Amino acid sequence: MNKPDLLSLNFDEVKNLISLSGEADYKAKQVYLWARKGIDSFDEMSNVSKSLREKLEGNTYLATVRIERKFVSKIDGTVKYLFKLSDGAFIEGVLMKYKHGYSMCISSQVGCRMGCNFCASTLLGLERNLTAGEMLGQIIKAQNDNNIRISNIVLMGMGEPLDNFDNVLRFLELVSDKDGLSVGHRHISLSTCGRVDGIYKLLEYNLQITLSVSLHAPFDDMRTGMMPINKKYNIEKLLCACKDYTDKTHRRISFEYSLIEGLNDTKECAQKLAFLLKGILCHVNLIPINEVKEREYKKSKNVYNFQKMLTEKGINATVRRTLGSDIDASCGQLRQRIKNEL
Ligand code: SAH
Repeated sequence: MNKPDLLSLNFDEVKNLISLSGEADYKAKQVYLWARKGIDSFDEMSNVSKSLREKLEGNTYLATVRIERKFVSKIDGTVKYLFKLSDGAFIEGVLMKYKHGYSMCISSQVGCRMGCNFCASTLLGLERNLTAGEMLGQIIKAQNDNNIRISNIVLMGMGEPLDNFDNVLRFLELVSDKDGLSVGHRHISLSTCGRVDGIYKLLEYNLQITLSVSLHAPFDDMRTGMMPINKKYNIEKLLCACKDYTDKTHRRISFEYSLIEGLNDTKECAQKLAFLLKGILCHVNLIPINEVKEREYKKSKNVYNFQKMLTEKGINATVRRTLGSDIDASCGQLRQRIKNEL
């Protein structure tokens, strides 16, 4: 029998659990709110009776997310967290401060099985999926640690969110709950390497989140060389799904494009990319690739020129500000470094 993690339950499920335990209804709200305070043990629920705590412990478990290490960027205050989960697994999260508030980049899996060859998160494959509660837990711990409220969330840390579809969907339900973290879907971005099956599943829910698609190359042979997912869902299939997604949700898609010197940063690539994206409700985020020790790619020096070429062709493109460049802030890098040290 697998016990659910308490923080992954929605309010109705907590209410059900409480009434099945023969307890008064009002206690459900107390328990629901306690779970959202970032407690690491049932004993911390100080206004909940011992007998109810014992019942909760019998029927659920607390999937703890503990801050194992923390690195603060001296350049821009970005905080990179290495979290340790109940089973000893490590994940990463990044807290960024913007003019309009705080934004948190969270992980959706321990490791990843998508195999993109420029990414550090996938080096050791997939260890396991995160529960919805473990995704919430990263945000709660960062909020508590800094005494702040996080108003924007990006599912762009370790893992492929659409490869953990049900838990991510549950997370999206829970995180927007007014009695919970109350972060509206319009303030959430979900990034995918191009799981077309997942994009179509997501489309059915017609959510107001922003879909980010990691495109990175405009030619199939080049993209397949970088991202194995392209063998299953090529660029044509991916862009067709993106078009269907925007038609249904009317939300602008954000295409991620990491520029690698001498590979995907040429004039030919910019022209092809502009041609492909013409007519799709979208925006392109250009990112100079983060050089990962285990990978051979070098940062492109042609970033602004590439942006200019796209803009001239009518494609909306911006260069993403790199935050936390002194603290290995991009996903997977820190966990990899710590694993090497241990
Ligand atoms: N699996 C999802 C989300 C996690 S990765 C996805 O693929 O979109 C978040 C973003 O960082 C993706 O756009 C990914 O392609 C990009 N990324 C991974 N490694 C990178 C690196 N070394 N430099 C720049 N971007 C990288």
